[in-house]
Amino acid sequence: MDYLARQRRLTARLREIGSAALLVTHLPNIRYLCGFTGSAGVLLVTAGARGARLTFFTDGRYTQQAAEEVTGASLVIAKKSALLEACEAAVKARVKTLGFEAEQLQYVTFQHLSHAVKGKLKLKPTTGLVEQLRMIKDADEIEHIRAAVGLGSSLFQTALAAIRPGVAETAVAGELEFHARRAGAEKMSFDTIVASGSRSALPHGRASGQAIPDSGFIILDYGVILAGYCSDMTRTVHVGPVSDSHQRMYEAVKDAQLASIEAVRPGVEAAKVDQAGRDVLKKAGYDGYFIHSTGHGVGIEIHEQPRIAKGQTAPLEPGMVITIEPGIYIPDDGGVRIEDMVLVTATGHEVLTPTDKSLITL
Ligand code: ZN
Ligand code: ZN
Repeated sequence: MDYLARQRRLTARLREIGSAALLVTHLPNIRYLCGFTGSAGVLLVTAGARGARLTFFTDGRYTQQAAEEVTGASLVIAKKSALLEACEAAVKARVKTLGFEAEQLQYVTFQHLSHAVKGKLKLKPTTGLVEQLRMIKDADEIEHIRAAVGLGSSLFQTALAAIRPGVAETAVAGELEFHARRAGAEKMSFDTIVASGSRSALPHGRASGQAIPDSGFIILDYGVILAGYCSDMTRTVHVGPVSDSHQRMYEAVKDAQLASIEAVRPGVEAAKVDQAGRDVLKKAGYDGYFIHSTGHGVGIEIHEQPRIAKGQTAPLEPGMVITIEPGIYIPDDGGVRIEDMVLVTATGHEVLTPTDKSLITL
C-alpha cells in the first residue's frame, strides 16, 4: 500500500482548503493513511508552511504493533490520553486551528478536549476529508477488493448447500460464516442477512431463528473482510415451486440491476445510475416497492462514498468501487434483491462479482 502517496494527497487537500492541521480519529481513515490496524489511536496531520508532518499517538498496548505497521508517521506512545497529547503536540507545533472529524468525535470527548486546550487551540469541525480520498481506490486496494469479492462469491455454494426447509436462518448464516473464517476472512463485513419466506420482504432481515419455509424467496446478503477490505453481495433464491408472480418479480429486479450496471461509467451522475434501475421497475409495475437506494461505495468500510441514490449529482470517477443492489419488497409475500460490486473503469465499468444471476430454485 502506498501510504505516502495518500498522505501527500491529504496534505495537498488540507492546503487547498486553507487548513493547517487535521486530527484524524476515525480508525478506518487512520488505517488508510498510515497502515495501523489496531483499535485505539489518533493521527495528527499538520500541513503548514514548514512542510507536512504526521504523528501517530497510541497507548502502551500497541507499542509493538504500531512500530511494525505505521508508515510515514512518527510514533508517540501516550502516557495519559492519545487525543489530549495529540492536541498538545498541535499547540507545540504552533497550530492555531485544528480540524477534527465531526462525524467521528463524540460530543463529550469534544467538550473535554475544548476545555483542555481553551485559549491555546481552536477546534474546527470538518467532514469527509479522508473519506473523499478513499472514494477513489488505488491499484493495491482494487486487488484487495478483488480478493475479498472472490472469497465472498466462493462461499455462495456453501450457503446454498445449507438451505433446506426446516433449517433455521441462523444455521445457514453460521455455515457461511464458519467457512468464511476458515478461508481466511477476518470477519464478516456486516451481520449476515438470511431472510426467508415473508421475511424476505424486509430489506435488512438479519438471519433469525425462523425456519426456512417450504416455499418462497430467500435473500442472502453477506460479505467478508479479507486483509482489511470488504466484499458485499446479494443473491435471492427460491424454495419450492415458483409462481408466475414470483418469476416476474425476480426478472424485474434482474433487469433493473442490469440497467443500473449498464449506466455505470465515468462522468455519469450517481443519481442517473439509481434512476436507470428505478425506471425498469416502474415500467414492470413495481413502482413503490423499491424502498432503498441503489448502492454504496465499498472499501475498508462496508458503506462508503459515493452513495448511489436520488439527488446524488456528483459524477462517478474511475477507481470507485460501488454496489448495485435494487430490490422489490412486497409485505406478507416476499422480496428479491440482487447485488454485485462494480468497479468504475476509465471507459465504463467492470462487474467484480462473478456469481450467476439466474433464479435458482431449491
Ligand atoms: Zn449487501
Ligand atoms: Zn450493499
